[in-house]
Amino acid sequence: MYNKLPKVELHIHLDCSLSYDVVALLIPGISVEEYRNKFTAPKNCCSLNDYIECAQAAINYMQTKEQLRIVTLDLLAQFDADNVVYAEMRFAPLQHLQLGLTPEEVVQEVLNAIVEGKKHYKVEANVILCTLRNFSEAQSMETAKLALQFKDSAVVGFDIAADEVGYPLDNHVSAFKFAKSNDILCTAHAGEALGPNSVWETLEKLTPNRIGHGIRSIEDPSLIERLIESNIHLEVCPTSNQLTRVYPSLEEYPINKLYKTGVSMSISTDGRAISAVDLNEEYQFMTNQYGWTINDLYRINTEAIKHSFATEEVKMAVQAQLDAFYLV
Ligand SMILES: [Zn+2]
Repeated sequence: MYNKLPKVELHIHLDCSLSYDVVALLIPGISVEEYRNKFTAPKNCCSLNDYIECAQAAINYMQTKEQLRIVTLDLLAQFDADNVVYAEMRFAPLQHLQLGLTPEEVVQEVLNAIVEGKKHYKVEANVILCTLRNFSEAQSMETAKLALQFKDSAVVGFDIAADEVGYPLDNHVSAFKFAKSNDILCTAHAGEALGPNSVWETLEKLTPNRIGHGIRSIEDPSLIERLIESNIHLEVCPTSNQLTRVYPSLEEYPINKLYKTGVSMSISTDGRAISAVDLNEEYQFMTNQYGWTINDLYRINTEAIKHSFATEEVKMAVQAQLDAFYLV
């Protein structure tokens, strides 16, 4: 039903999005059932860490140039099938060095695949490089420097992902400072496994332009005020939040309450394989569960492109596509 709607997706991990088709190329003979067991979060998944563990399976098969190429093309094909017209895909380059690729080669290969994909798919795709909570200060800085090195390409931003509970932000403050001082736009995962204090701390220490998830911001009205005042966008991922049990039940899941505060937010999948969901299904969920209409979907897509890390030219072109479709 929502397939034809043009969509903007800001929060999606490349390594969490391998379709069965691409995995069948990477692991010949794998059955659908084995794929589901290995690459999809179990429905009884109980935490962010369980969810992250599923990503490791994919990362192990993203270690050569050809593997990175086909995985990136596979995600572009999934965007195309969903009519995603603008996307920012993210990954941590330092996780792809197991077979001897350099971090530069890893980034370059994904960029090459995006160029190749442009011949087949209409999606405009950019890249966000991630550091991880468990990385050292040096690894985090190395990732930020890569983002600078590739700044004139499709690399448009810097992010911190992974275990919010187990690792503090201290190792990453200098990398974010470096990124900011070099005009690299930043987002940061926060307010997912931990509550509003984690978002406050992230805003204070990393000063990101957007927050990945941030759903638990709703628990502190003064934080919502601050997010609105500072025009900070939340990249909310409904299915992922439910799989990682951010809230114990769907009844308590406050996504619509968050939306109604007027805070800038959009909807993403986080990972199409791990969450076993596409963006159409996320939109369907918002409609079925909360009565969202086409106007709400227009609003979140408009907010998404406005807060994307794309050039002004791309933003205007995407906005025109949204207007042409949603405003008729
Ligand atoms: Zn994420």
